[in-house]
Amino acid sequence: MKFKNILGKGERANIENISSDFVSLASHQLRTPLSAVKWNTELLMAQKFGKLNEKQLRYLQEIYRSNERAISLVNDLLDVSRIQEGEIHLDLRLAKVEDIIEEVIDNLDTLIRASRVKLNLEIIGGPLPKIETDREKFKRVVVNLLSNAVKYTMPGGTVKITAEQVASGIKVTIVDTGVGISKDDQKKIFNKFFRSASVLKFSPDGTGLGLFITKALVAAMGGKISFSSEENKGTTFYFTLPLKM
Ligand code: ADP
Repeated sequence: MKFKNILGKGERANIENISSDFVSLASHQLRTPLSAVKWNTELLMAQKFGKLNEKQLRYLQEIYRSNERAISLVNDLLDVSRIQEGEIHLDLRLAKVEDIIEEVIDNLDTLIRASRVKLNLEIIGGPLPKIETDREKFKRVVVNLLSNAVKYTMPGGTVKITAEQVASGIKVTIVDTGVGISKDDQKKIFNKFFRSASVLKFSPDGTGLGLFITKALVAAMGGKISFSSEENKGTTFYFTLPLKM
């Protein structure tokens, strides 16, 4: 059945609104139980209520990992619905770019170690001037770009992140020696839910929402994002943010 053809333009817009409200409501309602699963699993894994055998621990770790995936999906969906509603609120404060990047690298430590890629950080011409920005959103952008670079680079490859001052403000560049993005896919890379066929096999868990959110956040913070890529060679993403909004 051709669903689209039997609806008028107004009705389609209505359905889109309803589905956006639904996503937002469902995501909010899911947050509390998912947090409860997270904290209780952490308590059990800490073995404060009794020692666990290896098998019990392994099952709990699997519960924890799956729950973390669900939490990040819910957070992504909430962000997408906020973006679509035009509701990105900025909490502007002065921040040190070096600190933000180092914090992100710390947070991604487990992923970086497990992927066995070499990570380099270079602050060009540092210390950099402080930037007036939304720290959490800046962090989110770096987390998304850096975790993609790590996820889509094979073991033994390298990921390099640099930060520097440029005429338009601060520029952060993330270069990887990973699988790259084909010319065709490059056109769709910032689309909601888009994932390259080439990464689906070895990285089945992504949502295809990260870059859509990243681009919207950079734009909301007054910046620009771009990339270049060559298949089987690697990818470079970079974004610039003004020093003052
Ligand atoms: P996800 O990583 O969850 O799939 P994203 O929106 O962050 O979602 O990325 C969309 C797609 O863009 C990825 O599935 C992948 O195909 C491609 N991609 C993003 N970053 C890179 C990268 N550094 N190297 C190769 N492909 C990438």
